[in-house]
Amino acid sequence: MKTALDLSEAIAVVHRDMQAHLGQGRVADYIPALARVDPRRFGIAAATCDGQLVCAGDGAEPFSVQSISKVFTLTLALEKLGADLWRRVGREPSGSRFNSMVRLEQEHGVPRNPLINAGALVVTDALLDRGDTGTTIEGIADFLRLRSEDPSVDIDQEVARSEGDTGFLNASLANFLKASNNLHSDVADVLKVYFNQCALRMSCSQLARAGLYLTADGLDPWTGERVTTAVRARRINAIMMTCGHYDASGEFAFRVGLPGKSGVGGGILAIAPHRAAVAVWSPGLNAAGTSHVGSMALERLAQLMDWSVF
Ligand code: GLN
Repeated sequence: MKTALDLSEAIAVVHRDMQAHLGQGRVADYIPALARVDPRRFGIAAATCDGQLVCAGDGAEPFSVQSISKVFTLTLALEKLGADLWRRVGREPSGSRFNSMVRLEQEHGVPRNPLINAGALVVTDALLDRGDTGTTIEGIADFLRLRSEDPSVDIDQEVARSEGDTGFLNASLANFLKASNNLHSDVADVLKVYFNQCALRMSCSQLARAGLYLTADGLDPWTGERVTTAVRARRINAIMMTCGHYDASGEFAFRVGLPGKSGVGGGILAIAPHRAAVAVWSPGLNAAGTSHVGSMALERLAQLMDWSVF
């Protein structure tokens, strides 16, 4: 019978094996404040259901979580609206880039899923609900502070501003959604909240800790708090599996076999149900905007630990 390695040993092996690949991939430069990050950085952390937190490399270094935030806003929106959210956003893989305009037009303003940018803008609008942008942004940040048990989690104002200055495609998507009657709040307000949620700075350790409720049927296994229902947690995992890496979601499922969500800051959060939440960070991206070394690291870890949902 196959015996899986001890988690600390496996993380040490992955950290060692990735050294030869550091610097591969392309750092996102369409958000100028992200372009300056050193492509050779690599961090990894795993938080387990039974209380361990194992971290290696730059795993304690905060980075821009970018689209990983979409998993957490989806959780909050489902708590707020329940199944009504699905009137405004679908749950099918898009097979196109994360910021595709063509796809949104084809779908008549109902985004394919909540993890592409158009869908995430609708989710953000559901949280904002014509309310105050500052309160909504703080609400999202507070959720992450609570889930990571770390009040120091914060938003990088420079990244948020940089994205605001250059986010013309996101503005196009938001305007199209507004024209399709699928945004309730002002376009500028939705974009402000969205750019701020993407600019949250968290380390791999904080992200892995925060994602634990998705490993344990919606219950935080360390505190016993119910974060979301078991059904919602499973469905969020299903959406991460099918849509978490946009047009490369099939490849990630094939290679890693775990639900995951990437961000153009180079982070990926992956969920091994009933075992662990794992976060990796390495800024060089592949063509789909997923961390190149990060996805290799997750593939290796899943293999060493014999973790797969299949
Ligand atoms: N803030 C980025 C954007 O909207 C997030 C994209 C991503 O991480 N895939 O373009």
